[in-house]
Amino acid sequence: MPVPLLDVNAQNLPIEAELKDVFHKVLHSGRFILGEEVDAFERECAAELGMKHAISISSGTDALIIALMALGIGPGDEVLCPSFTFFATAGSISRTGATPVFCDVCPVCFGIDVASAKAKLTPKTKAIIPVHLYGQSSDMDSIAAFAAEHGLEVIEDIAQSFGATYKGRTCGGIGRIGCFSFFPSKNLGGFGDGGMVTTQDDALAEKLLRLRNHGMHPRYYHSLVGGNFRMDALQCALLRVKLRHIKDYAAGRARNADYYLSRISEIPGAVQASESDCCCPEQQAARISEGGVRFILPVAYGHNGHVWNQFTLRVPGEGRRDALRACLAEKGIGCEIYYPVPMHRQECFAGLPAHALDACPVSDLLASEVISIPVYPELTTAQLDEVIAALVSFPN
Ligand SMILES: *Cc1c(COP(=O)(O)O)cnc(C)c1O
Repeated sequence: MPVPLLDVNAQNLPIEAELKDVFHKVLHSGRFILGEEVDAFERECAAELGMKHAISISSGTDALIIALMALGIGPGDEVLCPSFTFFATAGSISRTGATPVFCDVCPVCFGIDVASAKAKLTPKTKAIIPVHLYGQSSDMDSIAAFAAEHGLEVIEDIAQSFGATYKGRTCGGIGRIGCFSFFPSKNLGGFGDGGMVTTQDDALAEKLLRLRNHGMHPRYYHSLVGGNFRMDALQCALLRVKLRHIKDYAAGRARNADYYLSRISEIPGAVQASESDCCCPEQQAARISEGGVRFILPVAYGHNGHVWNQFTLRVPGEGRRDALRACLAEKGIGCEIYYPVPMHRQECFAGLPAHALDACPVSDLLASEVISIPVYPELTTAQLDEVIAALVSFPN
């Protein structure tokens, strides 16, 4: 039985009737840009996440761009971000005219390593973008302390982690601006592109709102150069339906992750990285090189509410990860490498200054070791068992 990496129909078709109703409602309203559905979606998202302001945006990428624009970041500025992330984090910085400076990451939680960020600080550094990768928060206390010490803005890239928490606080509301995505594979997955910015700051919210709509206020008067960063009313209406189910979706992902953690850890050679290894690659490497390690399981830290956008294993050893990928593919088990090439090795960034590109050994290692397996909420136990059986069958 093949198991796909993601099955959007398994989530969307059970609510088809509700989705058709809201499509009908928006069609007949004749209102497709901004308006009631957009306002309601933003209000409901803000309430769900406990944010003061939630502003819908055309995509997660545009959310990052508008966040940087609102904070006045552009040519001549440097912005710190992890090298091990999806391209949008880095591309958005470049598109404002600023320079992305790539930092290494923690091999356990996959978040930006503040020690690496410190080493790359220059007088031009204006902001840091922690990415809450795979559903788990970055180390926000260390990041906030570092940012405060050096007067940096903090923009959270929370595209993969809708609903994640850090020490009881909701991610996206810890830094100055949180940037969300509703790309279909995200935890609140839409029907096309969509995104959102969140902030607790009234003046900043006002500026973001204005930038979203060409910097216009009042109509046809432009005090700022903004753009068209609006999310469709139809998309907002459809996502309002899915937002009502977000707790169930989150519970499904958590259930599947727990099942994997308990069952995969029984496979000989499977180890779980330990919290104490965080930001200590040497300690972790020493433990792993003890030998016989086939899989390194992901860890949800006790102080983090992990929302499991991805369930990502590490497979140490030259060529081993690619061998596992081939083994899973042969059995029809969906898997993907998020991400095979870290940002400091991307061709388009080859011309950046040396400090933006150097010294990211953990990012290099992870790019060669990670593999994500299906964890979407609608997986059945039989499907989970199928994935686990494929892992068991992977030759040592
Ligand atoms: C998906 C993603 C984005 C971009 O979101 P889009 O809505 O696809 O533009 C940005 N950052 C990260 C880490 C992502 O995973």
